[in-house]
Amino acid sequence: MYRTKTCGELRLSDVGQTVTLAGWVQSVHNLGALTFIDLRDRYGITQLAFTEDSSEELKKQAAKLGREFVIQATGKVEERYSKNKNLPTGEIEILVSELTIINESLTPPFTIEENSDGGDDLRMKYRYLDLRRPTVRQNLELRHKFAFEVRRYLDEHGFLEIETPVLVNSTPEGARDFVVPSRMNPGQFYALPQSPQTLKQLLMVAGMDRYFQIVKCFRDEDLRADRQPEFTQIDCEMSFVEQEDILQMFEGMSRHLFKTIKGIDIPALPRMTWADAMKFYGSDKPDTRFGMKFVELKTTQVDNASKEIVPSIFPEGFAVFDSAAYIGAICAEGQAVYTRKQLDQLTDFVKRPQVGAKGLVYARVQEDGSVKSSVDKFYTPETLNLLKEKMSAKPGDLILILSGDDAMKVRKQLSELRLEMGARMGLRDKNKYSCLWVIDFPMYEWSDEENRLMAMHHPFTSPKPEDIPLLDTDPASVRANAYDMVINGVEVGGGSIRIHDAKLQQKIFEILGFTPEQAQQKFGFLMNAFKYGAPPHGGLAYGLDRFVSLFAGLDSIRDCIAFPKNNSGRDVMLDAPGVIDQTQLDELCIDVKLPSTK
Ligand code: ASP
Repeated sequence: MYRTKTCGELRLSDVGQTVTLAGWVQSVHNLGALTFIDLRDRYGITQLAFTEDSSEELKKQAAKLGREFVIQATGKVEERYSKNKNLPTGEIEILVSELTIINESLTPPFTIEENSDGGDDLRMKYRYLDLRRPTVRQNLELRHKFAFEVRRYLDEHGFLEIETPVLVNSTPEGARDFVVPSRMNPGQFYALPQSPQTLKQLLMVAGMDRYFQIVKCFRDEDLRADRQPEFTQIDCEMSFVEQEDILQMFEGMSRHLFKTIKGIDIPALPRMTWADAMKFYGSDKPDTRFGMKFVELKTTQVDNASKEIVPSIFPEGFAVFDSAAYIGAICAEGQAVYTRKQLDQLTDFVKRPQVGAKGLVYARVQEDGSVKSSVDKFYTPETLNLLKEKMSAKPGDLILILSGDDAMKVRKQLSELRLEMGARMGLRDKNKYSCLWVIDFPMYEWSDEENRLMAMHHPFTSPKPEDIPLLDTDPASVRANAYDMVINGVEVGGGSIRIHDAKLQQKIFEILGFTPEQAQQKFGFLMNAFKYGAPPHGGLAYGLDRFVSLFAGLDSIRDCIAFPKNNSGRDVMLDAPGVIDQTQLDELCIDVKLPSTK
């Protein structure tokens, strides 16, 4: 037997027992007559002690030990003289009587402790060492527990976990596919699934009724902190349901996860229409941990977010506002203390290319209630007073205003500013959770790149029945039976009620610009299936990595993935992707032409 106990379990009540532990040497402290070793395994750290009374042989063995050696130690559990309150095992130590070096270790490239001294690249190259650190390990433990509770909840509600293939076909309308050449079908390629969307719909046609799968999905997109080329979805689908049934079922799952994993009772999830989310937060995934809602001071355009024109509160005089199609503002409570320098920083923030605003107008409400603004010379005190009223601003508040000629663009810029102010004001506390459903997404969004309407969710999403007539007259204003679950400004999941009628599906493909032949070629398998009795169905998928990182309070999903890829999509540990042999290429009939490098 390698061990009788783990390094995390011994307490004062175990004093007197003889135990055997096995693990890695985290540190060696040599104090002359005494040697202490921190022995680590997945369960914790236990101190091993060698004293003056230890045998010469034992002392010799101990002297050989280096960091990350794998050892086995037997000894008596004793009460520690100086206790370590920070360690669950900190009241005891093992007085070692037998020591075996099981395996030696090279000196690791960074210290493997709570906070590693290795940079990101080094930690990723030696990820197997990085994973020995308790913080990273705890994230994987949390992830395991999360997936386990998902399975428990869905199993209790009659869902079947069914695997779908990983080698599938490329589908248009999504992100870019990862493709796999087929040796047996030269010149042909599989694609890795971006999600099992059509397959889960076919499982509904097959009568499986309730399906789920914790499944890898692949998208060849540019990477960001919350994106990986391969990621994990909790993919779900149900038959004979309406939107309300799905919202209830999965709100229940979220409640179950919060309760069993975080010990938190979350209130019923509020529902916000996409239009309101855009109008008041400038985002389809609003962070509702704090208010600071937008106030529209002028809108000359009616769009999917604003159904009404709002006349400007500002009389003519300031060219930027006069020509703007939209003026919107937020009120940052108590922030009138912002200095000129801080306001300049904020202006730089909104002018960064990632945000893209042209400038920032601000107004401070002074202690006497008067308003001091960066546009004082254009407006009378009465106008500025009206601004204060519209914003419900109090003395000490800071009003921040953005404007521009495209309302949606300005809303998104104002959303960035709102999030920035929220962060600066400490309103985005990681331990506080605010969940909601965003519902009634538009069916389509205009793509400048493609010069056509694209499905906002995906082309299998059902329009709201009452909006179906608009498909012929004003498709851009049609709303979908689509919904997202949003937590703290993160879209953790999303889905829709699907079309289960072959004719309606055909029509949607037409609006997306497919000819009937193209639609048949790409999606014939689905539309044909719909001709054999498709039940009404709908579902959603959660991003497991995102959800877990939210629970773990992480800034990047990478920290809850055992072997993540870096920003260039590389696995630096495996050094993947890599080149393959010419024989392999020949077999696949692939002639590699590298882009010429200048
Ligand atoms: N397949 C969708 C996605 O990957 C989710 C869904 O509609 O169920 O976003």
